[in-house]
Amino acid sequence: MATHATPQIRPLMVGLFIGLPIAALILTPLWAWFKGFSGWQWLIAVGFLYLNGLSITGGYHRLWAHKAYKAHWSVRLWFALWGAGALQNSVFVWASDHRRHHRNVDDNEKDPYSAGRGLWFSHIGWMLRDYPTNAEDFSNIKDLLEDPILAWQHKHYVAITVTMNVFLPLAIGFALGDVWGTLILVGLARLVVNHNVTFFINSLAHCWGTRPYTEENSARDNGFLAFLTYGEGYHNYHHIFQTDYRNGIRWWQWDPTKWMIFSLNKIGLARDLVRVDEFKIQRAVMDTTFKRMRAKLNTDEMCPLRAAVEREYQAFLSCVKDWRELQAERYEKHREALGEAWNERRTKLVERWEQTQMRDQLKVLEQSLQKQQKRLQVMLEQLPSPQTV
Ligand SMILES: [Zn+2]
Ligand SMILES: [Zn+2]
Repeated sequence: MATHATPQIRPLMVGLFIGLPIAALILTPLWAWFKGFSGWQWLIAVGFLYLNGLSITGGYHRLWAHKAYKAHWSVRLWFALWGAGALQNSVFVWASDHRRHHRNVDDNEKDPYSAGRGLWFSHIGWMLRDYPTNAEDFSNIKDLLEDPILAWQHKHYVAITVTMNVFLPLAIGFALGDVWGTLILVGLARLVVNHNVTFFINSLAHCWGTRPYTEENSARDNGFLAFLTYGEGYHNYHHIFQTDYRNGIRWWQWDPTKWMIFSLNKIGLARDLVRVDEFKIQRAVMDTTFKRMRAKLNTDEMCPLRAAVEREYQAFLSCVKDWRELQAERYEKHREALGEAWNERRTKLVERWEQTQMRDQLKVLEQSLQKQQKRLQVMLEQLPSPQTV
């Protein structure tokens, strides 16, 4: 009679992800009401929240899972400590799961937190049972296994996380003269808030928001979620251009993780920041817009805009072709220059002139794509049967 269809419950995880939030929901308001929290306690709790959050987003996620930049050892150690304090397992486990999530996004059999299995599953449910997708497999993080800081963090993860979550708040509590209040606010409530906002990226950011860059997967862009998740809410962009150190690519988009990495770079603690070429970003937006337009046109065979859309599409394809050719030429020139670096005949001046000329040509193509995107928006608004995205 007995079947093994439902995997075993993990009692420790249930305690952490169900028990702790319940305790926080009861204890925090009770303590606030009867004893009250001081301004310092609130300030330190928010400080911890951001230190944990940014170590997960800037360290675990963008630095280690996606290799979006390189960081000085002191920064890596800092992220390893405060990231462990976020109680989301070691970098090895986190990054390995996350790379599987990107590679198999929405695949219920392979994505550890597939949005296709429901909001609860992708938020917390996936951690509560021994699902086959949780099986430890570090074959996709061989590059990280060699980092001694990460190996140390993995080996001593429990000791580090207990120090960061219990002993540190305890010490602060003694210093402030209120041990229990500090444990409740800085230890417990902060941990639960940080857990849940980070988990929004796997759950809500896969079902709530827009899809400007790709409709190939469920990831969404959502400015409100970005505000809660230290900038990770631009998840549609992130899923198509995962190596970019930015998630919110526009200067006005709320992405404190991007600002932190940028600042670390400015003071010499981070380097080799990956930025996806603006043309490629624009191309993805256009590609998605065309797919959307064509889907609408399919519902109206007689639409007068049909020929115009087709003309725009052909113009788009030819623009992309020109851009590819120019990129190939640029790459070739660069290789030539490297090969002839010893050759005095090829002066730096000629090389610079060629580079500038190509950059100008690329800029023209980029601008023509931007203009076309504006025309497309106008046309899209005139098309029948508006679809929600
Ligand atoms: Zn995702
Ligand atoms: Zn990611």
